[in-house]
Amino acid sequence: MTATRIDGKAFAATIRDRVAQHVTRLKEDHGITPGLAVVLVGEDPASQVYVRNKGKQTHEAGMQSFEHRLPDDTPEADLLALVETLNGDPAVHGILVQLPLPGHIDAEKVINTIDPAKDVDGFHILNVGLLGTGQKSMVPCTPLGCLMMLREHHGTLSGLEAVVIGRSNIVGKPMAQLLLGESCTVTVAHSRTRDLAETVRRADIVIAAVGRPEMVPGDWIKPGATVIDVGINRVPAPEKGEGKTRLVGDCDFESCAEVAGAITPVPGGVGPMTIACLLANTVTACCRAQGIAEPEGLTV
Ligand code: NDP
Repeated sequence: MTATRIDGKAFAATIRDRVAQHVTRLKEDHGITPGLAVVLVGEDPASQVYVRNKGKQTHEAGMQSFEHRLPDDTPEADLLALVETLNGDPAVHGILVQLPLPGHIDAEKVINTIDPAKDVDGFHILNVGLLGTGQKSMVPCTPLGCLMMLREHHGTLSGLEAVVIGRSNIVGKPMAQLLLGESCTVTVAHSRTRDLAETVRRADIVIAAVGRPEMVPGDWIKPGATVIDVGINRVPAPEKGEGKTRLVGDCDFESCAEVAGAITPVPGGVGPMTIACLLANTVTACCRAQGIAEPEGLTV
């Protein structure tokens, strides 16, 4: 391996420390404790793990955590009513409704019911519009984490060629907007892109957000490029024993690390940054709500 390994786990720990320091200051100087409400509908096992981790890390940062677990058959109207209650609760500065939601609930309607000022996931249509027009917004956590790692590694990104693989509303599109905001030249690739390999070979920065295990091989990577692997894919790992699995990204780590200048591992790259950025967004939302100067280094 020749590439620098970008340690998202360690960087996320420094972000969480910064968050905790700001929380202490908010408590001591203003008598305010930032609060994050997380709503989980149903029993999806992966979502349960995420929600548990979010609650634990929220507490560890000194913030209040409010968890609302609703049954799978919760009527949409009940969920909307809960969101409205949280919108009006002054102890709640951030609201996150864990996705995916059960099929009978209109996720867009729920997201757009969240007070945009408390929308710490940055998925509300108003925040999407603000980000798209280069205005101050709540920034989706995963792309925010990717950008923080890129800034930390590169300093300025101005003029660099960036290729984002994937055009989802939660990763690919906001990532592209953020990179445009950094004055990168941005290409967004997707399943209809004609020559993905050639497109990726142009990139100084590759963001892979596809959901296909180890799809990007090393020979697609321009020598010295920075590779940010967002993908989280569980694959069989017979070498660990029968029925065992392991996590891999969307990039083939071994071959990409031979060519890239820097690369994030999976696990231990983008994943830990996502929750750290959720905490950061909650502090940012709290400061904005109170008219207090925003902490530096926690948003863009
Ligand atoms: P989506 O399924 O919503 O989007 C996947 C995107 O990849 C789509 O735009 C799709 O194109 C594109 N795509 C699919 N196949 C190909 C292909 N063969 N070539 C090029 N593009 C392709 O996924 P998400 O954006 O939600 O997530 C992507 C990955 O990131 C997943 O592995 C997910 O688990 C992970 N993730 C990780 C997070 C973290 O915290 N680390 C947070 C969020 C997601 P098209 O639009 O044309 O269908």
